[in-house]
Amino acid sequence: TKIGCPTEIKPQEFRVGLTPAAAAEAHQHGHEVLVQAGAGLGAGFKDDDYIAAGAVIAPDAETVFAHADMIVKVKEPQAQERARLRQGQLLFTYLHLAPDPAQTRDLIDSGVTAIAYETVTDARGGLPLLAPMSEVAGRLAPQVGSWALQKANGGRGVLMGGVPGVRPANVVIIGGGVVGAAAARVAVGMGANVTVMDRSVPRLSYLDDVFMGRLTTQYASAAATAELIQTADMVIGAVLVPGAAAPKLVTRAQLATMPPGAVLVDVAIDQGGCFETSHATTHHDPIYEVDGIIHYCVANMPGAVARTSTQALGNATMPFVLQLADKGWRRAVEDNPHLRAGLAVHQGRLTSPPVGEALGLVA
Ligand code: NAD
Repeated sequence: TKIGCPTEIKPQEFRVGLTPAAAAEAHQHGHEVLVQAGAGLGAGFKDDDYIAAGAVIAPDAETVFAHADMIVKVKEPQAQERARLRQGQLLFTYLHLAPDPAQTRDLIDSGVTAIAYETVTDARGGLPLLAPMSEVAGRLAPQVGSWALQKANGGRGVLMGGVPGVRPANVVIIGGGVVGAAAARVAVGMGANVTVMDRSVPRLSYLDDVFMGRLTTQYASAAATAELIQTADMVIGAVLVPGAAAPKLVTRAQLATMPPGAVLVDVAIDQGGCFETSHATTHHDPIYEVDGIIHYCVANMPGAVARTSTQALGNATMPFVLQLADKGWRRAVEDNPHLRAGLAVHQGRLTSPPVGEALGLVA
């Protein structure tokens, strides 16, 4: 199989679909790997790294799209990339089609077979190609939140771990899933006093077990949230209700009950945010203040650490890239129902019922 990896062109996207390590494995499996010149630079991978891995460098995107049987990317194809897709080609990337009718229409019209990272499943009911980015965003949340807590950034001037004789920061994490557990790990490591809230008691039991007394768990009732935010230096929003907008768990009126200069980090902003006063921000201008409370609401947090994110995504996608290239997509999805769950568009037809429902199309 000829595997092609173009440079990402969506603004502020520095990740790349194939790492040199993944390119090397594909090459060892007998596949031709074509990487666009400079594709890895944003993540710190040079063309020479890909050449050493056995890949061939293509001068431009046109060459990659024209020659490859299979395109491996990160972000959904942009309009100019969609125009280059053709019948019979395989596209493996994040798609997020449900809110994007223009992209859906173009993919259907192109005749491409598209498999979406975000709906590939695993044996435990998880989403293995989404989880690594949640891990990254979760671990980043206390790091960016602690920066926002610094006085010069408008925060209340509290050190996460305190010092001997001075209490550490109170960190409240709402939602104890992949993001919440990852955030808890780093906040605990920084020495903060951490409480994780969730509506799932089994999930709280799990966190209680693995953290062995180094954090407190609390059922996420509205009353408990109202009480805990009054003494919180930092609140991290990490809830997810699959397929729905995030519930609003802290109102604007409640901000007045929080310590001035406290920080809200809304990781769930990509689903609309879980604080009433949240609106999406960018890495260039990540924080703003409402009623004395500092908000951090960057919708693509993993982009801040593009190198780590690329490697984490590459580790997760590599086994699927190899299955698709080794067997051909048809046998690969027949053999692996988890990969089948990712099949979104095939030869002019939508094959994802939830996307069809969202867009009013037949799937
Ligand atoms: P997850 O499904 O692993 O965890 C979500 C948790 O929220 C679950 O444990 C669930 O029980 C809990 N929950 C649901 N409703 C709740 C409520 N009302 N109160 C308390 N807990 C509640 O999801 P995840 O992978 O951890 O993702 C969390 C959010 O982070 C999602 O919105 C995801 O899209 C987002 N995310 C954002 C970025 C970013 O860059 N901003 C990156 C990755 C993920």
